Amino acid sequence: MSYQQKRWSLTDLYPGTKSPELASAFEDLSTLVTAFEARRPECNSEIRAEAFMSIVKDLDGITVLVEKIYSFCGLYFSEDTQNQEAQNLMAKVEQFMAEIGNRTLFFELWWKQVDNENAERLIAQSGDYAYWLQAMRLFIPHTLTEPEEKIINLKNVTGVSALQMVYSSITNRYVFKLTVDGEEKELTRGELMTHVRESDPEVRAKAYQELYRVYAADASILGQIYQSTVRDWKNEQVGLRNHKSPIAARNLINDIPDQAVDTLLDVCQKNAPLFQRFFKLKAKWLGVECLRRYDIYAPVVESDKRYPFDSAGDMVLDAFKQFEPRFSKLAKRVFESDHLDSEVRKGKRGGAFCWPTGPDMTPWVLLNYQGKADDVSTMAHELGHAIHSMLSEEHNIFTYHSNLPLAETASTFGEMVLVDYLLQHEEDETVRRDILFTQVGDAYATILRQAYFALFEREAHDLINKGASVDELSQAYMQNLKDQFGDAVDVSDEFKWEWVSIPHIFEVPFYVYAYTFGQLLVLSLYRQYKEEGQDFIPRYTKILSTGGSKAPVKVLSEAGIDIYDPAFWQGGFDVLKGLIEQLEEIPVEK
Ligand SMILES: [Zn+2]
Repeated sequence: MSYQQKRWSLTDLYPGTKSPELASAFEDLSTLVTAFEARRPECNSEIRAEAFMSIVKDLDGITVLVEKIYSFCGLYFSEDTQNQEAQNLMAKVEQFMAEIGNRTLFFELWWKQVDNENAERLIAQSGDYAYWLQAMRLFIPHTLTEPEEKIINLKNVTGVSALQMVYSSITNRYVFKLTVDGEEKELTRGELMTHVRESDPEVRAKAYQELYRVYAADASILGQIYQSTVRDWKNEQVGLRNHKSPIAARNLINDIPDQAVDTLLDVCQKNAPLFQRFFKLKAKWLGVECLRRYDIYAPVVESDKRYPFDSAGDMVLDAFKQFEPRFSKLAKRVFESDHLDSEVRKGKRGGAFCWPTGPDMTPWVLLNYQGKADDVSTMAHELGHAIHSMLSEEHNIFTYHSNLPLAETASTFGEMVLVDYLLQHEEDETVRRDILFTQVGDAYATILRQAYFALFEREAHDLINKGASVDELSQAYMQNLKDQFGDAVDVSDEFKWEWVSIPHIFEVPFYVYAYTFGQLLVLSLYRQYKEEGQDFIPRYTKILSTGGSKAPVKVLSEAGIDIYDPAFWQGGFDVLKGLIEQLEEIPVEK
């Protein structure tokens, strides 16, 4: 099979931006929403199950069409973000969607007010919609009266949301200076951070020092913004909404029980020494006594192997096929439907994504393929997402998307399958070593680093609510780094400002542990696969094909996984231990 690197086709959605089909889709949507609004008087607690389901199905139909139109415009915009027609279309569609959202909102508001007995009666008859209906009601105990909710919304716009905007305005204006090849350059943060992966140790150190020089200059103001954000979170989530703790509010959004999150973070802390062992090994490979924090992402004798697009496609499909032929067939569907945009073009959106547009359609995948080993992994990752969606296509528009903590399962698992395949087929030791080092390094960044951010957040929320100053928070952050790195990494003083540079902890408190959860889950699943072989596959496929039609705990417990059990999470770390042991066996070259 030989695939070309090219632009995707969107004709499975609409023939074009000026097509009569797209124009009439907008009109159809308006008609459907008007008809839906007319059903409002039917919404009362005594409604018959048939009538209720017919309202739900109407909303389903509206949402399917919304997704289809929105996806078409969003994908078209991604093809060329500089295209003014695409920009205008995007603005139009966003305005239109906001209006539709407001006009259909009454259903959710009403549904949360239905008494438990009637809600259970209706859920029992709702088939595949059950979890979606239940999940909306999880927030009832934490919902205030309508006037109170309105006041919070109104005051948030000029309150905490405005503060978060100020944070992002301040930090997005930053310009970083770095001397590259004898010439001083002005860089964005993204550009600056590419230099921490360079082979010159001096450049890596300079890049970090510059990053924190700039953040430290504003640390007291950024720290104040954080303190207020944290106090606001507590006042609202704990004080007004009755969540047990600041992190519990996020756990409910993820629908993961508090105790499971605590167990996850505990196991991570216990495994900090495992990554310390990795960093000590890395120091040997870099020929230094002790690794500096600057060197965490340093390349270890990087291989310059390149993979042409068609052979990368073959490798990924072949790796999937070796795992389970059905996975390979589904991934092929993306290529064959012409839903893959892999070219590098000016104006095209950077990075990579998979965009599912509805349960009845093959998802679209965007890559900027340049032939590095990383690009092949990214291909496996995004196709993994696509497979996940296609496996859950039996569900409805509200339940085929998996919950956040499970959203990265198939993608990360796909990468693992590819890595295994590459290690099996690669004879060049340098390339093998590069693959292993990259894998463990990436696992550090998504598992342990994010877990320690979450641990810091938990502590910072506590400290701030007891009146801690910005300097005290920085001290706590340094202690957090010391716990994480032990004597394996030398952390210089400016890293005490790292926390003020992490947008997630400002903008979405406690979001970061979802990364830890997802990656560690995949590693643990992978270990089960290695142990059980083919027996594992039906269980795994079932997890994926459940989509978002059940609570994460339930999806996993039905597959025999107990996320309350530390041993399950430890299984993930054991996979990494195996990889580190493989690396330790290779004689160090200097
Ligand atoms: Zn992903």
